[in-house]
Amino acid sequence: MDVDIAVIGGGPAGATAARLLSRANRETILIERDLKNIKPCGGGLIGKAFTAFDIPLSLIKKKVESIRIVSPKGNTHDISMNPAFLAIVHREEVDEAQRKAAAAEGAGIIEGTFIDIRHGDKSSVLRIKTAAGETQLKTRHVIAADGVNSMVVKRMFGKFPRRIYTAHEIHSLDGYEDDFLLQRICEFRFGSVTPQGFYSWIFPHRDGISIGTGSEHAGEVDAYLDSLLRARGFINGPNGHRRGYFIPVWDGELYYKNGVYFVGDAAGMVLPFTYEGIYYAMRSAEFAVAAVLKNKPGLYKKLWQEKYKKRYLVMRALQRYFLRNDDRMEKLVSLYGHPHIREASMRLWTQDDVKINLIGGFSALIKKYGGVR
Ligand SMILES: Cc1cc2nc3c(=O)[nH]c(=O)nc-3n(C[C@H](O)[C@H](O)[C@H](O)COP(=O)(O)OP(=O)(O)OC[C@H]3O[C@@H](n4cnc5c(N)ncnc54)[C@H](O)[C@@H]3O)c2cc1C
Repeated sequence: MDVDIAVIGGGPAGATAARLLSRANRETILIERDLKNIKPCGGGLIGKAFTAFDIPLSLIKKKVESIRIVSPKGNTHDISMNPAFLAIVHREEVDEAQRKAAAAEGAGIIEGTFIDIRHGDKSSVLRIKTAAGETQLKTRHVIAADGVNSMVVKRMFGKFPRRIYTAHEIHSLDGYEDDFLLQRICEFRFGSVTPQGFYSWIFPHRDGISIGTGSEHAGEVDAYLDSLLRARGFINGPNGHRRGYFIPVWDGELYYKNGVYFVGDAAGMVLPFTYEGIYYAMRSAEFAVAAVLKNKPGLYKKLWQEKYKKRYLVMRALQRYFLRNDDRMEKLVSLYGHPHIREASMRLWTQDDVKINLIGGFSALIKKYGGVR
């Protein structure tokens, strides 16, 4: 079979790419290994994504308008996101809706698993395994959107993208006194109960709450999660089913090689510090599509860097500086006592069109109040 463009992976990145390519009348086939896949994910999607990518508002299950940050010593700040919000969605519903939207624009959808790639002069040949057996697909362009365990990356570079390990559980809130609050606030906890360099989260979820943490060292995550569950009184509660999964670590290196555009988690496009990835997966797909349509591979990197590089660098610098030890995490949380810092960081997070000077201004505020050199 021959096709102009093959998109591998039907999560937020792949479905967005297939939708935009088909809308531009380019012949596109999306290959997804499991159309019933439920991606392990908090499902927290920033409000601006809904208009930017035509996601139906009816998919929002819960709307979070405040975040809570908790320091190693238990000091707490509740920070309003207003007028922005974080939507809690069911990943399987959003992914399916986006794939259906791509199909409605004309994309072909195949349930099949990418196995291997062979590069030719002007095209590549993909080996795909489907229920009917193995098939080959010849294609001019490939969009690799197959997530953090990207087999395309593995085949082309011999290893997976750099990643950290997470574990989380979903708990029902029946019988818990603070359930009202937990349904409306996303809580980020720093220090002692979290591995170094990361945070623990408690997010609203359709079935109660999602509670989890992550680390570069897979071996320590379960013990940290156990102690967090105990600290929050969930250990004897309705037993959650624990799921482990990886999140990539951004290094800003991977965009395009040999006719293949890498987007979303396959390219590590997760915002440092917060590890927010759904929105940026979609954005990276949008930029890669622009490059395909103009037949200028270098345009993808250029567009992405113009829009997000500075923001990613600032977030990575903050993560490296503040999440190093309890003293610094305590300092970080105390900084949110300053209205300027609260306001600047919320704008940086929730607004896409922040100017470089806001990013620079935010860094200056952190240096001024935080004693960061
Ligand atoms: C525990 C956890 C919590 C998270 N919470 C949040 C959050 O609250 N908010 C947020 O913004 N981000 C969150 N993230 C990150 C977010 O889930 C990812 O960044 C996002 O899903 C990336 O989208 P993607 O399309 O690049 O990859 P994915 O969503 O992983 O999609 C990849 C798709 O490719 C398919 N696939 C894989 N291999 C193959 C193959 N060989 N052949 C064909 N298809 C294949 C998969 O089935 C999948 O459907 C979280 C991540 C984890 C692990």
